[in-house]
Amino acid sequence: MARINDNYLKLKAGYLFPEIARRVNAFAEANPKANIIRLGIGDVTEPLPEACRQAMIQAVQDMGERSRFKGYGPEQGYAWLREKIAQHDFQARGCAIDASEIFISDGSKCDTGNILDIFGKDNKIAVTDPVYPVYVDTNVMAGNTGDANDRGEYDGLVYLPITAENNFTAQIPNEKVDLIYLCFPNNPTGATATKAHLQDWVNYAKAHGSIIFFDAAYEAFITDPELPHSIYEIEGARDCAIEFRSFSKNAGFTGTRCALTVVPKTLKAKAQDGSEVELWKLWNRRQSTKFNGVSYIVQRGAEAVYSPEGQAQVQGLIKFYLENATIIREQLSAAGLTIYGGINAPYVWVKTPEGLSSWDFFDQLLEKVNVVGTPGSGFGAAGEGYFRISAFNSRENVEEAMRRITAKFSLT
Ligand SMILES: *Cc1c(COP(=O)(O)O)cnc(C)c1O
Repeated sequence: MARINDNYLKLKAGYLFPEIARRVNAFAEANPKANIIRLGIGDVTEPLPEACRQAMIQAVQDMGERSRFKGYGPEQGYAWLREKIAQHDFQARGCAIDASEIFISDGSKCDTGNILDIFGKDNKIAVTDPVYPVYVDTNVMAGNTGDANDRGEYDGLVYLPITAENNFTAQIPNEKVDLIYLCFPNNPTGATATKAHLQDWVNYAKAHGSIIFFDAAYEAFITDPELPHSIYEIEGARDCAIEFRSFSKNAGFTGTRCALTVVPKTLKAKAQDGSEVELWKLWNRRQSTKFNGVSYIVQRGAEAVYSPEGQAQVQGLIKFYLENATIIREQLSAAGLTIYGGINAPYVWVKTPEGLSSWDFFDQLLEKVNVVGTPGSGFGAAGEGYFRISAFNSRENVEEAMRRITAKFSLT
């Protein structure tokens, strides 16, 4: 009989979102009249910007004309899109990133997992706790971990707790790690990193020959001019960091699918024989072999994000979600809850009331006020005692959810 990849059997059975769905469905079935408001899964709710839609409509027309029809595009993405990204997202911020170092893809979720293809099996890997579960599970699937303990922590991974005690920035490890996943603005905590904090990480990585995987999916939510949007704003990052970006959360492309990964040509790691190899070459080879590019239509839609109208429309979306986050922050604070994040990020990280676990609070919110959030413990052991509320929803739903919560949970 054929053999499976046994690493999949190490994955924890109850992945967070299916378990949430199970509890919500059970509640909805027992209470068919309940008007449930979902502030749980991190998906956008506002429609695509008009500029992106118009560009995609035009691109569909192109595909219907023999002279403008496109077949397979470059595996790395079209040059016109990569140039715009290099200019607007990097060079305009003083980051020396060239268009040739940008790889267009259909998502950061897959890129953060696929990147492991070009790394060896004997790397020491660090993740924050709590963490975006994709980083952990893809390492489990790749065979980079042992089994999970009863707290859900996998043998072989280094967990860096991010909690109120360290202001939600991971402490630089004392030991040497080879690969480090960082996500700022952070999902799930909504925390941000200062330039000084990222400089500490870059210095650490350069001193130890480590590679930082920097997930900047939420950079568009940064409004504080002092905060860095890209790791490449940090001196030395070109020698130690890969950055992941996505059009999902800024331009609402979660269902349209377009993202990018930056692999600087100066980035190197060691081969078995001790020689240093350019990671750009490996990632280029990997993408050329296993990926055939993002649809022309979608890349035209992504390009429109950089037009003046597109920029204004994306700013409008960000402003809308950040206003939701402000309403959530203010109302939950007024209810006496301790909250973090939600200022330069679409997530508010709530301390659960005294004596309630993350799942207790989840059940109470669901049962008493019919509001769904995400238990912090689902993102890692150090997330226990916290709860994530997402600002991705309509104004009406956010306001109604907050009215219900303040009415039932007021601790003041
Ligand atoms: C939403 C999100 C992404 C984006 O994923 P896509 O596959 O591009 O939609 C990446 N990282 C984090 C932490 C996210 O929350």
